[in-house]
Amino acid sequence: KNAEGKYTVTLIEGDGIGIEISKSVKDIYSAAKVPIQWEPVDVTPQLVNGKTTLPKEAIESVFKNKVALKGPLATPIGKGHVSLNLTLRRTFNLFANVRPCKSIVGYKTPYDDVDTVLIRENTEGEYSGIEHTIVPGVVQSIKLITKPASERVIRYAFEYAKSVKKPHILVVHKASIMKLSDGLFVNTAKEVAKEYPGITLDFELIDNTCLKLTTDPTQYSNVVMVMPNLYGDIMSDLSSGLIGGLGLTPSGNMGDNVSIFEAVHGSAPDISGKNLANPTALLLSSCMMLRHMELNSYADKIENAVLKTIASGPENRTKDLKGNAGTDSFTKKIIENL
Ligand code: NAD
Repeated sequence: KNAEGKYTVTLIEGDGIGIEISKSVKDIYSAAKVPIQWEPVDVTPQLVNGKTTLPKEAIESVFKNKVALKGPLATPIGKGHVSLNLTLRRTFNLFANVRPCKSIVGYKTPYDDVDTVLIRENTEGEYSGIEHTIVPGVVQSIKLITKPASERVIRYAFEYAKSVKKPHILVVHKASIMKLSDGLFVNTAKEVAKEYPGITLDFELIDNTCLKLTTDPTQYSNVVMVMPNLYGDIMSDLSSGLIGGLGLTPSGNMGDNVSIFEAVHGSAPDISGKNLANPTALLLSSCMMLRHMELNSYADKIENAVLKTIASGPENRTKDLKGNAGTDSFTKKIIENL
């Protein structure tokens, strides 16, 4: 908190639609008089000794402020850079990715009653980045699962379940095939569960979860799902699809000292710069951030204004929600509804 009573938060605006949706957040925060001062940082990667690193100023800003809001970052394919998102998660040891997904009242989809939360292991699994060519035409990619990383994300899930009063953990896995790697994740959950006698622990194969979730999502309303990295990535897009798409779902990357909040979606190059992006996902991520900072009244105020705007009809919704508002007119309407 600075002398004016404001909290400084690092802002990574991101690529593509990141610029447009970050502007929307900044405009709404000013209008709602949220006591936050943004510290924008540039995260253009630097290659130091063949390794992707973040600029020193960006790292210092996030460690100093402890909280950051981040727009999407485009990952160049096959250019020798490790994904910047992965670099961020590793640099700040953001081991748990919390992804809630809730139906939006007033925006009709085939599912009216989705209320799920999944916690994705954020540092290893198929994302360990260990890949090599054995001989031309044959590559090997290593899925790395360790007990310490499994344990910390599973323990986080148990603590989360306690705090949101959903005393039921569901581990989503494929240990029937990946017996050692997913098996370690499953066994670690059984060990951690001994410390939480008040919380029920269940297991489900990922393919079965996909089937059941798309058949009747209410079966998952009272559980906290926790799963290895790739499954969490895929399951969260699947969940977004149930409520109206990627423009709506927020997330928080949680570590011991630092948390970075971001939308689940990417930089959407197909619509970038066209005033078509839906800022809701980043706005709802920022509301998760405000609650994390115990600024709940501001989170409620902004969330209510966003939901009221979406519910008020297609003229006030962006194109991804079958509406005809632009990013700017949608933002203006939210400000009116604050
Ligand atoms: P994407 O999420 O950017 O887009 C998928 C589809 O959803 C597109 O049709 C897009 O127009 C739409 N969409 C996404 N967000 C939207 C929004 N807010 N409003 C309206 N429509 C929206 O996925 P992609 O195209 O596979 O990836 C593009 C780039 O983003 C890639 O470089 C990828 O690596 C990166 N990415 C970054 C993150 C992150 O920063 N956390 C996450 C996913 C992908």
